Amino acid sequence: MARYTEAVCRQCRREGAKLFLKGDRCYSDKCAFAVRSYAPGQHGQARKKVSEYGIQLREKQKARRIYGMLERQFHNTFVKAEKQKGITGENLLVLLERRMDNVVYRLGLADSRSQARQLVTHGHIAVNGKRLDIASALVKAGDVISVMENSRGKEYFKGMAETLASKTTPAWLVLDAQSLSGKVDRFPTREEIDVPIEEHLIVELYSK
Ligand code: SF4
Repeated sequence: MARYTEAVCRQCRREGAKLFLKGDRCYSDKCAFAVRSYAPGQHGQARKKVSEYGIQLREKQKARRIYGMLERQFHNTFVKAEKQKGITGENLLVLLERRMDNVVYRLGLADSRSQARQLVTHGHIAVNGKRLDIASALVKAGDVISVMENSRGKEYFKGMAETLASKTTPAWLVLDAQSLSGKVDRFPTREEIDVPIEEHLIVELYSK
């Protein structure tokens, strides 16, 4: 599968915002954006006038990078959102939140979405008791996401139940820390999606 290979922290600096792509490090003083909060490259600190298109483009790139998606995947998700009833921008965010890798991250089973994606693609995660290794698969209301039985003994998952118990889970997910699993109670509302994205800019961009 194709994936993004540029240094992760450069993406935050490019977008001018912390995208929280590296787990714990993002909350520490080692965060590259906290140290250099300007765009990477020779002209990173130059003041530039940004066009309306530029603002919309950056917002889309920011969303795409937060969820770790390639352009085509992201655009396909937008097309799907457009076909749904309701507000396209909100539909888009809900679809992004429903991705398997995002749900694993939201449940606290991984520190970042990229780590969550690895757990999924390496076959450590099950949906309704069956292994599902497709990070882009969309969860449905009522689905139960859990760590595969034969993965629970792995070093990575040891002691995780205790750590999970102290974490906060979004209201639309019900975590069972002891069994390293969680249920999708319902889909999130816009207010419950805490990503710093102005989705209407993405809709405007793709509607041109
Ligand atoms: Fe972004 Fe996290 Fe890197 Fe900071 S540490 S620049 S928030 S990915």
